[in-house]
Amino acid sequence: MNHVVVVGAGLAGVRSVEALRGRGFPGRITLVGEERHRPYDRPPLSKAVLLGKTDQSYVDVDLDALEVDFRPGVSAKGLREGVLETTEGEFTYDGLVIATGAEPIKLPGDGMQHVLRTIDDALTLRAVFVRGARVAIIGAGWIGAEVATAALRAGCHVTVIEAGSAPLAHAIGPEVGSRTAAFYEGIDLRLDTMVGSVDEGGVQLLDGSFVDADVVVTGIGVRPTVEWLAGSDIDLHNGVVTDEHLRTSLPGVLAVGDCAAWWSRRYRTRLRVEHWDTALSAPEIAAATLLGEEGVYDPVPYFWSEQFGHMVQYAGHHAGARMINRGGPDGKWSVCWLTDDDRLAAVLTVDRPRDLVQGRRIVEAGQRLDPSRLVDPDVPLRDCVV
Ligand code: FAD
Repeated sequence: MNHVVVVGAGLAGVRSVEALRGRGFPGRITLVGEERHRPYDRPPLSKAVLLGKTDQSYVDVDLDALEVDFRPGVSAKGLREGVLETTEGEFTYDGLVIATGAEPIKLPGDGMQHVLRTIDDALTLRAVFVRGARVAIIGAGWIGAEVATAALRAGCHVTVIEAGSAPLAHAIGPEVGSRTAAFYEGIDLRLDTMVGSVDEGGVQLLDGSFVDADVVVTGIGVRPTVEWLAGSDIDLHNGVVTDEHLRTSLPGVLAVGDCAAWWSRRYRTRLRVEHWDTALSAPEIAAATLLGEEGVYDPVPYFWSEQFGHMVQYAGHHAGARMINRGGPDGKWSVCWLTDDDRLAAVLTVDRPRDLVQGRRIVEAGQRLDPSRLVDPDVPLRDCVV
């Protein structure tokens, strides 16, 4: 293998370059990225950057030392076997990693609609979050909650409009999500509320009412960035379909990060996870696979969110599992999800990092817990293992 092309210069792309070099790949690497910036991390955008604590979040990487031919401002347009088509002409490759991430979904309407995906988005938003501004945030998911945190701190009048019956209902279910509704103190949180469109001056709701706003932020989710592959002969289904080694249907082509829907051996289903830890860790396996080593990508998904002064963390995959409230004192709480045979499927913690660390290990090990001990938050999770 002489030449590897990595498409997308986000975290998963840059980690792919690092992993290839880390495994001793001596050939040429080209990193093609649509954005004109050096690779940067996205989690700080809705936290430190939006809160004004920093202006940038560059990934700590020396691209020169990695001897990578970095092409910022270049978009991939199509892929055929051995050839990547871009806005700057064609690149031939022996191996290729797709790491084009995901992009925000927008709502209908002619009004100004902010999203938060890029550093430019973050700096633009920060500038309009001024004291007294009326900010309407559509979606009380992870991004909506973090953006609301920053808008509130900036002294804005914040309305959060959520279609579901609770914040985070889509991600963690309405029962657990509703426990985070208390975080929204000082915010006009409108649940079970559907948006029709974003119009000049605010948000048109389907019930006929209108939310006046100076700034509208849409945070209703993302879709994998794969339209550029539409004419290519590659399997796409909710992202780029891969096997457990992160191989796509095209020879020599792998996919990682937010755009990849990989086969999970652990969960016997296809997973696509839009979280930082996946973009960080999957490239190690992709690089191994590309270089002919035996690697299986089989993580327990993990993510965190910092909202309204709380650290929310989750590890696992709770589909089909039953929820058990572990509770906790002083507004710090955890919930666990158990499988039919009482194995820990997932854990979600609010300001209880010890539960998260122990729970993550227990999920990884596939251990069973004693449900009667689990409901006592004073019993460490590891002491609930049977
Ligand atoms: P991306 O970061 O999206 O990078 C993909 C890159 O590919 C982009 O630069 C894009 O411009 C480029 N690209 C796209 N199409 C093309 C093309 N055709 N040609 C060339 N280049 C292309 N996760 C957590 O676990 N915890 C958090 O607290 C958290 N906070 C977040 C906050 C924000 C504001 C955002 C946006 C995300 C957050 N995430 C968080 C999610 C995490 O950042 C993502 O999972 C991670 O960035 C995915 O990395 P990626 O490299 O796969 O994709």
